[in-house]
Amino acid sequence: MNKAVCFIVLFLSFFLFINLDEDKVLKSSLLEEENFNKMEKKPPVRLEKENIVLSEPSPKTIYLTFDDGPSYLTNQILDILEEKGVPATFFVVGANIEKYKDVVERAYISGHTIAVHSDTHVYGYIYSSLDNYLNDLNSIRSKVHNITKDYPRIVRLPGGTSNTISKKYKEGVVSEITHWLDKHDYYYFDWNIDSLDASGNASKEVIYNSVINNLKTGDNIILMHDSSTKQSTVEALPLIIDYAKKYDYTFAKITKNTNLYHHKVRN
Ligand SMILES: [Zn+2]
Repeated sequence: MNKAVCFIVLFLSFFLFINLDEDKVLKSSLLEEENFNKMEKKPPVRLEKENIVLSEPSPKTIYLTFDDGPSYLTNQILDILEEKGVPATFFVVGANIEKYKDVVERAYISGHTIAVHSDTHVYGYIYSSLDNYLNDLNSIRSKVHNITKDYPRIVRLPGGTSNTISKKYKEGVVSEITHWLDKHDYYYFDWNIDSLDASGNASKEVIYNSVINNLKTGDNIILMHDSSTKQSTVEALPLIIDYAKKYDYTFAKITKNTNLYHHKVRN
């Protein structure tokens, strides 16, 4: 009798567990949908001009840069930047800007820099030849132009210019790409502080500490991501900004006049 009761309880808990899990997945996709809908209605607010440092030299400057977006989280990032009166630079990806046109528009109208990362973000394609890279570059620039009426010339290569994954697809391709960009009036930027938010499930604390422990006098170009899984980045962002303001750092967006910062090319 007792065994039978145990069996029934176990059997029922199994179903309860499965249902809870499904429920969780459903709730998270509903949440994303709900955020997406909310986001559509958000009117762009132009950041106050005095809050945006363009190219004025400042002894301690921070460039917040976000790769791989936009996503539904970008709107939350824009809310934070707006509340703190801080500009940023977004290195966008093709498929995402098509889905989140309104977010790109909001970021652009607010005064942030819309820069390009990659249309496909597929290493095997873009790093197979200079031509493939340029096709990808032209395509993402046109997509941004469709939204902002501006053809961006500020660029960040997937994996940065020091990436060696590209060797797998073509020896020397990053050298070819960077020489081409230099010759054709493009401005490519790497980073000198990695927030570590690209790696797995970096917590808010890891991201915050990776940034604030590496801030220094001069230009601080911070690599972060605003793709859809980077909730911890959103949580760390206001803390990073508050810390930096407390220690007299100023914030700037990347423009053509920003001091270039390049990694050493390794392929
Ligand atoms: Zn990327």
